[in-house]
Amino acid sequence: MNNSVKFRFPGVVKTPSRFRNPIGKYRLNRTEACEACGKCVEICPYGVHVIRRGKLYIENPHLCVGPDCPNPCYEACPVKALSFGKNPVFDLLGDFRWTPDLLASTWHMAETGSVPSAGLEYKAGASGGGFDKLRIVMKQGSTGLAEISDDDIDVTVQLNRRDDNAHRVSIEVPFYGGGMSYGSVSINTILSRIKAAKALGTFCCTGEGGYPDELKPYADHVITQVATGLFGVREETIKRVKIVEFKYAQGAKPGLGGHLLGDKVTPGVARMRGAVVGYPLFSPFPFHSVYSVEDHKKHVDWIKAINPQALVSVKVSTPTDVDMVAVGSYYAGAHIIHLDGSYGGTGAAPEIAKKNIAMPIEYAVPKVHRFLVEEGVRDKVTVIAGGGVRTPHDVAKIIALGADGVCTGTADLVALECIRCHNCESGRGCARGIATTDPELMELMQHDWGTRRLVNMFLAWKKELTRILKRLGMTSIRELVGRSDCLVHLDYIKSKE
Ligand code: SF4
Ligand code: SF4
Repeated sequence: MNNSVKFRFPGVVKTPSRFRNPIGKYRLNRTEACEACGKCVEICPYGVHVIRRGKLYIENPHLCVGPDCPNPCYEACPVKALSFGKNPVFDLLGDFRWTPDLLASTWHMAETGSVPSAGLEYKAGASGGGFDKLRIVMKQGSTGLAEISDDDIDVTVQLNRRDDNAHRVSIEVPFYGGGMSYGSVSINTILSRIKAAKALGTFCCTGEGGYPDELKPYADHVITQVATGLFGVREETIKRVKIVEFKYAQGAKPGLGGHLLGDKVTPGVARMRGAVVGYPLFSPFPFHSVYSVEDHKKHVDWIKAINPQALVSVKVSTPTDVDMVAVGSYYAGAHIIHLDGSYGGTGAAPEIAKKNIAMPIEYAVPKVHRFLVEEGVRDKVTVIAGGGVRTPHDVAKIIALGADGVCTGTADLVALECIRCHNCESGRGCARGIATTDPELMELMQHDWGTRRLVNMFLAWKKELTRILKRLGMTSIRELVGRSDCLVHLDYIKSKE
């Protein structure tokens, strides 16, 4: 994050599933007719089959690309010992936004550090709206950039654009981790995210549950969140960081505040939040000390009095007057306007709120971008957008609509093998040990494994974003900001046909 020294990204470390039978789209079966000739091992480009001490194993069935395979083993087998079919449970996974293909392709990126080469749709879901209705229009023919090294494509984002004394901070990738509180997710999940943020030269936000001591070694990459419940907010946790985020609202549940069920309030969580073990906790809505831009300025001044060099980020949902909120936040002294759309949220956010309250993020971002341009302050403030960013293509789309960078959340959990079962709110509901504070379930996932999975996924995102920029004829992500002409809405294509 220091511009004078070229940042070195970590390499990919192959990190397979932590479960014995990873979920894949296809299933292969080998019968006793197999003569162990080894042909399937030899021809499979995806490493599905392995041979050990003369015995054949289908070791990585989840990597099989099925009918997309250029030379399928089940056709090449000389004794027809292999058969293949769709995994019957695959289509039961996920939902219209996080389709089974998007889940499996995210797991693939987290394991291998690359987007899937075949077999899975990794660019868009099937929600019929939002980012799924937008496509990036690549330039026809050569852009002359194909031969340029990926390292020469600039994807860094400057976070402080004000001419003030606050830290000059830039991030090496155009995304950072959105807030997930200690209490909503396990300490291992939090550590995985922050360690990955450090490795990638970016940040991760604490969420509203306080700042666990385990994060201290990563303080230069932590964003301290101050939310309406003020859980765990202390002077030293504001002093310790370069960025402080006020959470005024969350896109998945604007107007509702937060609710942590008593089951999740374990002794560690209670200690951190100054609460009582086993009792539910509510974050009110709104901040009862803020009803105007002037009130908000008092908040900013409060942070600056404690930590004069801190960048202030303002996280808001997307009401119809979000453009006024953004410009008001800028004049109050904010460095970052963080727009949180309604497609995100863990399984704990109520569906009725997610689907019916806030303005879709793809409408909010261009509205804010235009308003800030017309006000003449667009290049003085950083716009970060989040809420439902699932893929590198979503990142490119939201930046083309006018954001400078994005904030991620659910995609991180999916990289850690979340299956989108929507049990996040209950104490022992997360069978994957991610959104839990239960000591037994937490042990299902270790943070070294989690860090590698997240680093891999985000390296795949970076690689794909670089590819997109090259195909658009751009050498910097900044050239893409507000270039909505690089997008097409699928409804308009159809209406022309
Ligand atoms: S190609 Fe067929 S016979 Fe040869 S090792 Fe594979 S499954 Fe067995
Ligand atoms: S696997 Fe865990 S984190 Fe994912 S939706 Fe289910 S409960 Fe939530």
